[in-house]
Amino acid sequence: MNMRRTKIVATLGPASSQPKVLKRMIQVGLDVVRINFSHGTSDEHIANVELARSLAREVGRTVGVLADLQGPKIRIGRFENGKINLEVGDRFILDADCKLGNQQRVGLDYKALPNEVETGATLVLNDGLIVLGVTGVSGAEIHCLVEQGGELSNNKGINRRGGGLGAPALTAKDREDINTAAAFKADFLAVSFPRSGKDIRLARTLMEEAGGNSLLMAKIERSEAIDALDEIIEASDAIMVARGDLAVEVGDAAVPALQKRIIRATRASNKLVVTATQMMESMISSQIPTRAEVSDVANAVLEGTDAVMLSAESAVGDYPVETVLAMVRVCVAAEKDYTVNNDNRLGRDGPSTIEEAIARATMFTAKGLDIKAIAALTQSGETVRLMSRRSSKVPIFALSPHEGTLRRVALFRGVYPVEFGEGINDPEEILRLAEGELLKRGVVHNGELIVMTIGEPVGKSGCTNTMKLIRVGDCKS
Ligand code: PGA
Ligand code: MN
Repeated sequence: MNMRRTKIVATLGPASSQPKVLKRMIQVGLDVVRINFSHGTSDEHIANVELARSLAREVGRTVGVLADLQGPKIRIGRFENGKINLEVGDRFILDADCKLGNQQRVGLDYKALPNEVETGATLVLNDGLIVLGVTGVSGAEIHCLVEQGGELSNNKGINRRGGGLGAPALTAKDREDINTAAAFKADFLAVSFPRSGKDIRLARTLMEEAGGNSLLMAKIERSEAIDALDEIIEASDAIMVARGDLAVEVGDAAVPALQKRIIRATRASNKLVVTATQMMESMISSQIPTRAEVSDVANAVLEGTDAVMLSAESAVGDYPVETVLAMVRVCVAAEKDYTVNNDNRLGRDGPSTIEEAIARATMFTAKGLDIKAIAALTQSGETVRLMSRRSSKVPIFALSPHEGTLRRVALFRGVYPVEFGEGINDPEEILRLAEGELLKRGVVHNGELIVMTIGEPVGKSGCTNTMKLIRVGDCKS
């Protein structure tokens, strides 16, 4: 069987919120929808989540929901005529007091910016298109010299090269959006522009207070986040390589090596990782990706990412379905040659929990014996997360009665959610029925060897303590 292991995340937007389009995207392989709080209203987001879930049910697939907070993205204000054109050598002022911009100056939504930059700083606008050198600061005005010009329109983002801006990671809007995300039971909550583990812990507390239990995903997109990478990974459940803003802060050429480092460090810490931004950018208006985009997606797969993500391609592009199809094709092909093994801890440190011991023993076994599938009976999905951190070609089926768990594991590389086991408490019976479930799905056949893991007593969360090797068909009772 040729099952894709790498998962696909797609941002919802006008291009993908028609039921017909989204249904097709789910049918052809979309695993997780991303709700982008930078655009749209909370009513629109709630409607999109409901739509995605009901279409997933129709199609018979499990689709997770990733709620992505806007964070303290610093933006310029608006222009009298909507936009201006800046040329190299022009003088331009970022003015916290300016109401409506013109060719000489524009306003700022982050009023503290003039206090946080100094002569010699470099500000980058519109995702790297425009570069301004700061020549002086006086009061609310930042005086700049245009070093790289281009069109500048309303509300474009500002980053400071090298980082160092003080805006806190969670804004008042983010706090409201966390409530919305908790209300629609987001499976993942992405925190934008975190600088430290503290930012993630605060988001987790707010999520818990709002009654949600999303896994926390830190977007690595500030210079400071690179310096604090280990503690951010520690505080998070998942990491996003947010190449859009990261490239602006650290310089685009530094990103490919950082991507490799972030993916490796995240997997080694048993956490999940998503690679994002411009992966299939040309497909916003083209039916096929460029060779470079194909390589980019394939390389993320070869580096061990759990998922590859679409942003504008699926939110506002002309070919959302074709883009998902292209990603599917590239992932499957790249996985054939996947030999990376990030599991350097296996030989070094012992497991630190019973679950980890079972997860590792399972993956170790699957390396040697000709195991066709791993069937993990799981309450929280923790054991399958640990299993999926070990590179392997064996599919891991996560069998769970809990919808929330199934939706989470939809993001885990090599893990396939299977709804199963509500109300069955006898371990022998549950193993027999689980085997039947895999047979029914055609993923294993009589006589083949599978590994099953289960927690006894059945039904209790966080206590997978049993691993069993089963030859399919041998345990009839
Ligand atoms: P964004 O984050 O799409 O919300 O900006 C991702 C990135 O910066 O790459
Ligand atoms: Mn970003």
